[in-house]
Amino acid sequence: MQGVGFRPFVWQLAARFGIRGEVSNDGEGVIIRATGNDLEGFVAALSAEAPRLSRIASIERAPIAPFSPTGFTIVETQGGTRRTGITPDAALCSACAAEIDDPAARRFAYPFTNCTHCGPRFSIIDSIPYDRAATRMRSFTMCAACSGEYSNPADRRFHAQPIACPDCGPHLDRPLEEAVSALKAGKIVAIKGLGGFHLACDATNEQAVATLRTRKRRPHKPFAVMAADLAMLRAYSSPTQFEALLLSDQAAPIVLMDGKRGLASSVAPSLERVGWMLAYTPLHALICQGVGRPLVMTSGNVSGEPQAIGDDEALEKLSLFADSFLMHNREIARRLDDSVASIDAGELRVHRRARGFAPAPLDMPHGLRKAGPILALGGELKAAICLTFGDGDGGGEAILSHHLGDLEDALTYDEFEKAIDDYTELFGHLPQAIACDLHPQYRSTEKAEALAATAGLPLIRVQHHHAHIASCMAENGWPSGGQKVLGLAFDGAGYGDDGTVWGGEWLLCDYLTVERLACLKPVALPGGEAAARAPWRNLLAQMVAAFGEEEGLERLNRLGLEDALRDKPVAPVCAQIRSGLNSPMTSSTGRLFDAVAAALHLSFDAVSFEGQAAMQLESLAIAGEWSSAYPLTIREHKGHLCLDPAPMWRVLQADVVQGATAGEISWRFHAGLAQSSATLASVLAQKHGVGTIALSGGVMQNRLLLSLLIEALQGRGLTVLTHRQVPSNDGGLAFGQVAVAAAIIANNSRY
Ligand code: ZN
Ligand code: ZN
Ligand code: FE
Repeated sequence: MQGVGFRPFVWQLAARFGIRGEVSNDGEGVIIRATGNDLEGFVAALSAEAPRLSRIASIERAPIAPFSPTGFTIVETQGGTRRTGITPDAALCSACAAEIDDPAARRFAYPFTNCTHCGPRFSIIDSIPYDRAATRMRSFTMCAACSGEYSNPADRRFHAQPIACPDCGPHLDRPLEEAVSALKAGKIVAIKGLGGFHLACDATNEQAVATLRTRKRRPHKPFAVMAADLAMLRAYSSPTQFEALLLSDQAAPIVLMDGKRGLASSVAPSLERVGWMLAYTPLHALICQGVGRPLVMTSGNVSGEPQAIGDDEALEKLSLFADSFLMHNREIARRLDDSVASIDAGELRVHRRARGFAPAPLDMPHGLRKAGPILALGGELKAAICLTFGDGDGGGEAILSHHLGDLEDALTYDEFEKAIDDYTELFGHLPQAIACDLHPQYRSTEKAEALAATAGLPLIRVQHHHAHIASCMAENGWPSGGQKVLGLAFDGAGYGDDGTVWGGEWLLCDYLTVERLACLKPVALPGGEAAARAPWRNLLAQMVAAFGEEEGLERLNRLGLEDALRDKPVAPVCAQIRSGLNSPMTSSTGRLFDAVAAALHLSFDAVSFEGQAAMQLESLAIAGEWSSAYPLTIREHKGHLCLDPAPMWRVLQADVVQGATAGEISWRFHAGLAQSSATLASVLAQKHGVGTIALSGGVMQNRLLLSLLIEALQGRGLTVLTHRQVPSNDGGLAFGQVAVAAAIIANNSRY
């Protein structure tokens, strides 16, 4: 990698081990020509002590002709053509944090302090090779002091391209203290950060947070909260050691974790978990320290639209929400949302891959590296694209883009189109094939069709849930041509190869082939897309499917829902279910969660964000009483097996009548779904001689269900593959699509 301080690190090591020679960086990697007595120690230290932001893919050694250099030199960059110059943005390092706190330091309280180990990277890069002229720092001319640091191999800022100080670097448009006082007074401030604007307010001030909700028209979706440091955070939450490590990681993601004591209740209404992050730029650190309390930091956008990054754009769009602005004169080259991660079932899970993670490469499994460059365009929601490279250096890697948003929004779609150009130009990528989802109406599919037609490239359409499972397999290094796995793909919706809506699938697959062995018993989705936003419709569909229309309606009344149903078009929806008009069949797990939530009177009428009902259920279940699991039965349905929740509804209804708590019911549902799913998986695995289960799909973000599933599957002697770096939701689809496409191309096969 360039710009991570690798060459000065090599230079310092060489001095320590008495090595003579040179180090250079040609954009393909680092080349060290070395001679000396302790080459072994030198090489061992290369990987053992590598700098914070570097990532050593491999070290290759070869003898060279004898040479007798006098010392050790750093050779200037030869110009790079590949991906080595593009690293993710990195959170403020401890040395820089100490510097901005030190009244005697040149950069005391300077909000744009950075060094080779931290600071802006991907958010300011326009092109490679990575040097200052290729970044948005080009308009700032280094002062003599900064130049001195920049050219001194022993300095922490040797070749730090964004190097800056109060004399020569970027500046705020008004005193930081103004923003601090406004925040302390309960005002909402739009702050220009690293990858875009945030709307900030005091997270402990109920009125401020409630005002932000009203202005943003965002009634429920939880807000992320930022603390100046771990010490501040610990006053409000009790992170585990693992969570504390993740919070302090150079990627500085939002970490979903328990604990919100002292925070305004409207930060995360009716959820146990809050998204916490630590201040990741000096600007954020100075503001949080100044206010002395955690701040809500939510993306500065009109709901559904991309976050603002330009000053004028922000002034125009965010004036509706913000009482004041804090901006600076360093431009943002690329919109990067905050990443979201958590520790679930004992491991790191990235839910939104953006700032700090993108565009770090992902390894492609063996057997998939032979295919030429492929571009995959992903799905429709949580869009992200993925690039793989051809033979030779880098052929083993894939670049999964940062999170781009939901393509149903026109501005987000523009952003998506721009990202395709941006990534292909930046990485010098010339695709030889395009991959996309099977859904004919996804905007990403339409774009893929157009791109393939214009360039005369093959287009590979990958079934949604196959892509989910392939993504999980590839992330786990599952070899192409290896054994088949049984994939459990649980999500909201994906286009099935029979034209119906899938979302609760047991798939026998490798990269090349996929067979649907079983699914959740399909029920109607009355109103189609409308049903995904109205949990009560799914409850009605479940009751009608389980008991027939008459008895189903009667049982709904016994759930105590007469009043809630009074203003609903129950009869027309029943007619819809009967006729199948605008009422496709779906095996969606997400909709089953919605139905259970509605039965408990949660998000009954509508959800205001995707996954809301499921998140509420998860939260209740974790806090709830742990008792036995609800029964779901495995039965034959249209020639294959399915998991039927009908018996669960019977017991659940009795629970409601007997006054069981929502927490207990929710727990019994999670446990029932996990256990019956694992039983079905183990039956199928045995029948097909499979020992490995891959878990994917957005529902796997439910930490309780994930933990219970892993436990139940392992308890049945099965090996379980799960996601870590790649989101299990649709944000990971494109990675699965390139894996399938690469297998097809490498094997000269057809899909
Ligand atoms: Zn630093
Ligand atoms: Zn300077
Ligand atoms: Fe999906």
